[in-house]
Amino acid sequence: MSDRHNKEEFAKRHFATKLLHFEGSFDEQTGASSTPIFQASTFHQSDLSQNPPYDYSRSGNPTRQALEDQIALLEGGTRGFAFASGMAAISTTFLLLSAGDHVIVTEDVYGGTYRLLTTVLNRLGMETTFVDMTDFAAVKAAYKANTKAVFIETPSNPTLKITNISEVASWAKEHNLLTILDNTFMTPYYQRPLELGVDIVVHSATKFLSGHSDVLAGLAVTADPELGRRLYQLQNGLGAVLSAHECWLLMRGIKTLQARMEHSERSARKLAEWLNEHPEVTKVYYPGLADHPGREVHEQQCSAYGAVVSFDVGSGERAKAMLGRVKLPLVAVSLGGVESILSYPAMMSHAAMPKEVRHERGITDGLVRYSVGLEHIEDLLADLDQALRG
Ligand SMILES: *Cc1c(COP(=O)(O)O)cnc(C)c1O
Repeated sequence: MSDRHNKEEFAKRHFATKLLHFEGSFDEQTGASSTPIFQASTFHQSDLSQNPPYDYSRSGNPTRQALEDQIALLEGGTRGFAFASGMAAISTTFLLLSAGDHVIVTEDVYGGTYRLLTTVLNRLGMETTFVDMTDFAAVKAAYKANTKAVFIETPSNPTLKITNISEVASWAKEHNLLTILDNTFMTPYYQRPLELGVDIVVHSATKFLSGHSDVLAGLAVTADPELGRRLYQLQNGLGAVLSAHECWLLMRGIKTLQARMEHSERSARKLAEWLNEHPEVTKVYYPGLADHPGREVHEQQCSAYGAVVSFDVGSGERAKAMLGRVKLPLVAVSLGGVESILSYPAMMSHAAMPKEVRHERGITDGLVRYSVGLEHIEDLLADLDQALRG
């Protein structure tokens, strides 16, 4: 190891520097400016008396290792894990639990997580209570003798409700519960849950971390080495790992995370304020707005408001007409790309949720979610204005 590669030094630097300099950020052997893509399933073992660093790519691959070290560094953890998708990261993490275990989950959780819990993990004997996590009393009331974990998503999706992370995490610790937090919306640039007492951070790296709407990936990070060992066993055992090539693409995207987030966030603030004044809009959800009920808590635990704004246009008909008229954002599932993405939760991300449950959670037929990209904000506003007015 050259003295450019020093773990303690990496950890002391600013976030922007950590995005570019980490263990494995360049190839020590050749000096190549990026981690090589080790496109190999297996590794020659020249000395059978030694434990090789790599033997089989499901169990470990040097390209994946570089990415896993980087996400651990960015989240302030000790160990990172890369998976084939966000859902692969989330489902693998949930399998730390066993039949008979009960988990408390943010009620307006990502649609895929809801589906996993209610159609797959329930069959394996895991029990879920969905609660409004903005209400700490409701979280405590959901506790049962077999509760083993709390799964938090904050800001939640798509109505951007805010959970007080350290309050829930410290209560969970008192009861010996595992806390897992989906940090997809904020990314470690704006929110670092491990520092607030959370045990495991999970990501759909498909979104802001990769940032270019061209990679499907998931990540998990732990602070506790023993928990890291257990999660590694599951990653290796279940095998939903990220390929070397996708790891490389994701690392390429992560390099510009801070620059992208700052630009998009600035635009998102403007978009939210503008929507708030727009006559065709009935409600705007954005933690940066003065009337957002979770604003204060969000500001305590996060360094910015993020790049996602949800808003209600009053009815499904009006939402569909508007989606048909926009010319700049992609009308699509997903978020966090360099291009703006407008999605329609009722028919896309939350289509799996029963209509009554969906409406109860504020995900009405008039609700749309705008993920702000890197276009000029004035063009985005002009486009949205013509789409809203029709
Ligand atoms: C997209 C998303 C997921 C699922 O990730 P995939 O990469 O699509 O599997 C999980 N949580 C949140 C908050 C998401 O936005």
